[in-house]
Amino acid sequence: RILLDNFSKSFGSTKVIENMRLEVGSGEMLALLGPSGCGKSTTLFAVCGIHRPTGGRILFGDRDVTDLPSQVRNVGVVFQSYALYPHMTVAENIGFPLKVKGMPTAEIRKEVDRIAALVQIGNLMGRRPAELSGGQQQRVALARALIRKPDVLLLDEPLANLDAKLRLEMRSEIRRLQRETGITAILVTHDQVEAMSMCDRIAIMKEGEIVQIATPAEMYNDPKTAFVAGFLGNPP
Ligand code: ATP
Ligand code: MG
Repeated sequence: RILLDNFSKSFGSTKVIENMRLEVGSGEMLALLGPSGCGKSTTLFAVCGIHRPTGGRILFGDRDVTDLPSQVRNVGVVFQSYALYPHMTVAENIGFPLKVKGMPTAEIRKEVDRIAALVQIGNLMGRRPAELSGGQQQRVALARALIRKPDVLLLDEPLANLDAKLRLEMRSEIRRLQRETGITAILVTHDQVEAMSMCDRIAIMKEGEIVQIATPAEMYNDPKTAFVAGFLGNPP
């Protein structure tokens, strides 16, 4: 599980998050849902280790990772702009995190093949990113995030750049992968349909606070505030 215990984050004198508590169960996929500027990415950056919290602790299981750098947290990350390396082939892109770790080429090849089959891009291995569709690039980014068998998968608006049809396809694809691997995941989105269709639970954020956390059905049937109801498109 992931636990944010009393998590706070300020930038200079601007307090973005204050004393947040958030627990994501092992194998659970949780959505952080809320309007632009509410602090979703800030929260995710703290979990992956890009930002250090100004207060509180972050735990993976019982392990306190608050002061650990990103590289040793064993997280897989996919951001909205999923910058693949343009000069590398798909296979090289996916294998890169293992190459950095110094794994022998033959072993990398095996791991790349395994993960490519998982995200169903085995036929694209020799191409370069510019020769791929948006959805295919997205799969490569996912494969690269998953190749080190991370304990935690963090997704920040991973589908924002895709057209409607691909977005639908990738929603179920990512969910399938998450279930198959049993990985603990946080999905940041401002799309309520995405959150409802992909996640076990939803945490609704407003101005740096979690207003309600519940399963999609609970949230839809019993929104705790007008804000939540309005956000889910089910106003009282
Ligand atoms: P969006 O849906 O638009 O991506 P978000 O919920 O991810 O929004 P954050 O990026 O977490 O929002 O930003 C939360 C607040 O923190 C915003 O008001 C933003 O301006 C502020 N903020 C984020 N990063 C910094 C920074 N490096 N320096 C100063 N303020 C920042
Ligand atoms: Mg954001």
